[in-house]
Amino acid sequence: STIPKIVILGAGYGGILTAQRLQKELNYNEADVTLVNRHDYHYFTTHLHMPAAGTDSIEHTRVAISKLIDEFKIDLVKSNVQEIRLADKKVVLQDGTLSYDYLIIALGGEPESFGIPGLTEYAMTIRSINSVRLIRQHIEYQFAMYKMDESRTDRLNFVVGGAGFSGIEFVAELADRIPQLCKEYDVDPNFVNVYNVEAAPTALPGFDPELVEYAMDVLKKKGVQFKIGVAIKECTPDGVILATGEEIKSQTVVWTGGIRGNRLIEAAGFETARGRVKIDDYLRAPGHDNVFIIGDNSLMFNPEGRPYPPTAQIAMQQGVTCAQNVVASIRGKDLKKFVFSNKGTVASLGKGEAVASAFGKKYKGWVAAQLKKLVDMRYLFIIGGIPLVLKKGRFF
Ligand code: FAD
Ligand code: NAD
Repeated sequence: STIPKIVILGAGYGGILTAQRLQKELNYNEADVTLVNRHDYHYFTTHLHMPAAGTDSIEHTRVAISKLIDEFKIDLVKSNVQEIRLADKKVVLQDGTLSYDYLIIALGGEPESFGIPGLTEYAMTIRSINSVRLIRQHIEYQFAMYKMDESRTDRLNFVVGGAGFSGIEFVAELADRIPQLCKEYDVDPNFVNVYNVEAAPTALPGFDPELVEYAMDVLKKKGVQFKIGVAIKECTPDGVILATGEEIKSQTVVWTGGIRGNRLIEAAGFETARGRVKIDDYLRAPGHDNVFIIGDNSLMFNPEGRPYPPTAQIAMQQGVTCAQNVVASIRGKDLKKFVFSNKGTVASLGKGEAVASAFGKKYKGWVAAQLKKLVDMRYLFIIGGIPLVLKKGRFF
């Protein structure tokens, strides 16, 4: 047929927003839309630190994709993307091949290990439902094993590598969870150590210094021990070795030291920087007017020439513009430039605590924690309306 084929890879923040907007804007039989994702659910990456620590459930962190899209209008394919063949306009899946006229790449990033020895082998990462289920189980297992052999105090040492937003949000949840685990497993909380190691001269580099100080104070009170200005140099089966030569013995290392673009994108032959593609103002890959790249795999610069950090916020906004531009391309109309509208940053610090920088103001504590809930609920509302807010929202 002559109906153009649109293929969206990845049903995360960027992919879901693109799919929903395409479904709304396309006329009947104007295009075939296929959404490919490795799971049949969409997960809230921004919430993963909670189930990772065990302070919230997996079910609050994901929703069936079929609840978010109209399967009469969009073909949902649950499969693993294995290769993007630009020259043939084809995508190779684990169990078949799709051809496209328009491709939207929204596969999300991958943990960046910077080639640190042992990291990929011995550290865990907060990336997906599967990866956080593992972290949660692993932590509980350490408590259980410690009770079988109390000489193994390394089992009660927990190391979080990197104090960016992911590291800070996770270590806060972990600190909230430790007292519960100590009670459940009859462990003296004084024997437990939670370390957060950060290479930069400060936690949350680039964030407002007053809010950084507040965040660190809150976390220190919860028992987190910071090692700031010290890089993790190596990860071993026994723990981590720091740039100072110091070793922290631990069976649990959670790496939140940064993310990079998806390997499939380099493999496709795009020019990348840390796996991300510098896209044009219309979200297209250079030299490929029919290929759009959004979210963590895209690289865009602000008016001052600095790269936008990869966030859910920008991925969602890109999804909206991407859908408009795909429709405009099909209709032969002018494309729209993407303009990022920064709504600010909110970082949770565990129960009842957060820091936020939004609307040109700073917020701390309870007020910031309420802002965090609003941001989460706003997202649920955008993708699933009131029913999803009621089903997945956390009101308390
Ligand atoms: P993703 O949301 O990662 O989606 C990618 C999708 O592609 C996934 O569904 C994945 O399963 C699928 N996929 C990947 N590979 C394949 C494959 N080979 N085949 C098929 N499917 C595949 N940002 C904020 O703005 N605010 C926050 O508060 C915030 N909090 C965060 C907290 C944590 C703990 C973390 C880790 C990140 C946080 N972020 C936050 C960053 C944000 O989550 C990411 O920037 C965002 O998820 C990127 O969206 P995306 O659409 O590019 O990819
Ligand atoms: P990041 O790159 O922002 O932070 C990684 C941190 O690890 C950095 O501070 C870095 O200095 C440190 N690091 C790197 N190598 C190290 C080493 N060898 N030893 C010790 N520390 C090391 O990564 P992230 O925190 O995963 O965030 C990824 C993206 O997601 C960012 O754009 C962030 O803004 C976004 N995010 C946002 C929120 C939020 O808004 N609440 C939450 C999580 C993530």
